[in-house]
Amino acid sequence: MIVVILGRYLLNPEKIMRGVKIIRKLIFLVLRFTLIPFFIREIIQRKKVTIILYHNIKPNTLDMHFKVLNSKYNIITLKNFLEARISGKVNDLPPKSLIITLDDGYKENYKLKTILKKYNMRPTIFLCGGIVGTKRHFWDGEDCVSNNRDYLKTISNKKRLEFLREFGFEEEKEFGDRVALSNNEIEELKDIVDFQSHSMFHPVLPNCSCERAYNEISQSKKYLEHNYGFEIYALSYPNGNYSDREISMAKKAGYACGITVDVGFNSQNTDIFRLKRMSIADDADINELLVKACGLWWYIRKIFDYTSQLHKLSIFKNEVF
Ligand SMILES: [Zn+2]
Repeated sequence: MIVVILGRYLLNPEKIMRGVKIIRKLIFLVLRFTLIPFFIREIIQRKKVTIILYHNIKPNTLDMHFKVLNSKYNIITLKNFLEARISGKVNDLPPKSLIITLDDGYKENYKLKTILKKYNMRPTIFLCGGIVGTKRHFWDGEDCVSNNRDYLKTISNKKRLEFLREFGFEEEKEFGDRVALSNNEIEELKDIVDFQSHSMFHPVLPNCSCERAYNEISQSKKYLEHNYGFEIYALSYPNGNYSDREISMAKKAGYACGITVDVGFNSQNTDIFRLKRMSIADDADINELLVKACGLWWYIRKIFDYTSQLHKLSIFKNEVF
């Protein structure tokens, strides 16, 4: 009887996913209350600068996250860190400094306005110059990409575009609906948000030709400066992909720093074009937020090197960059 019930349960994908989600939540709950996150914050993060990354977080979740982050960390801006880093004064920043960033500039970010005003934390939102203020789409949000995402990130940029073209996607095509922030929304947010660059069209930069990669990096900076009057000093590498070539290009284009999704904390000695960042799932609960913001989750993954097997079990879903 038990075997039959178990069999029915295991054959139901929805039930499996629900079970996986519950297990996942329990793991974060247990990890949080081991007090390891507390000790990491108080011992390691105390003298470091942590940068966290969101994409398309909902206002209620952000409200909940900000409240907790405010009580555990000292929130500073990316500009605060950069200025301290340049003048050699990172050690003078508040203990447990934390910077909030959001990649891509999704139109839903506008709904965060009330929460951003409430906490006055001035996060950095990285925009794609070729997509923001238009009805163009991000290539990796298209239906044809969902089963080919990993493959498309490994092939040349030219081949990726050819693949997408077969499904009717063009980078400069205007669609019926909008996915990125509009010009008016940016105008309304600019006093409470630090807008920076995330390339023009979000390609995998190391897969691009030299000319294309440099255009992506330099044109985005120029476009955002000329069209919105921003001071663009930071580049977030799309998908977190970069190489020495992209770093040289970012320097040549006039950026002062580059942000990765390499796991770790930042200090006076961190390479300013390889700033480290912790990715937080947009739907993370407080346990998951605290376990990931202190790096514990990523270190566990590294130590056990179970990533690929656990990916198959879907336990680590929603950790896209
Ligand atoms: Zn991105």
